[in-house]
Amino acid sequence: MDSSGEFELETPDRDAVKSALSRYRTNTDLSITYDATPVFSGGGETDTIWQEGAFGMPDYFRGLTWCNDPVNGTRHRCDQHYIRIRGAGTYNQKIAGHEAGHAFGLVHGAEASPVQGQCADRMGIMRASVSCTDSPGLGAVVKQNINWIY
Ligand SMILES: [Zn+2]
Repeated sequence: MDSSGEFELETPDRDAVKSALSRYRTNTDLSITYDATPVFSGGGETDTIWQEGAFGMPDYFRGLTWCNDPVNGTRHRCDQHYIRIRGAGTYNQKIAGHEAGHAFGLVHGAEASPVQGQCADRMGIMRASVSCTDSPGLGAVVKQNINWIY
């Protein structure tokens, strides 16, 4: 979690990330640890960098996850993701859990196979809009997909 400068996370943001990741740690096979002295590039780089701030998209985009180090140039495997969520109170467990899902390889309903509605209940935390996501719970399909992938 970015701890200084333009994209620093304040305590409530950090708490939202911790809660979201705890949900993955508790409900899936993922082993998630926090690296307090991360390496940002090269061998042994940290898997995910969390930031707070703008990212050049319309306001209805609350967060964005992108790969900055694809494995051998592939589209769907990534060594390191950046997750940036808007500031001014936007960080919450739902958005943090959703963006973490992208970093773990999950997609929205429109990109799922078979295709699902963007607000389909079965998409759980990966519903495309926070407005149709009623809780920060992962959802059964998210848990299954995470455990299947990892
Ligand atoms: Zn998304």
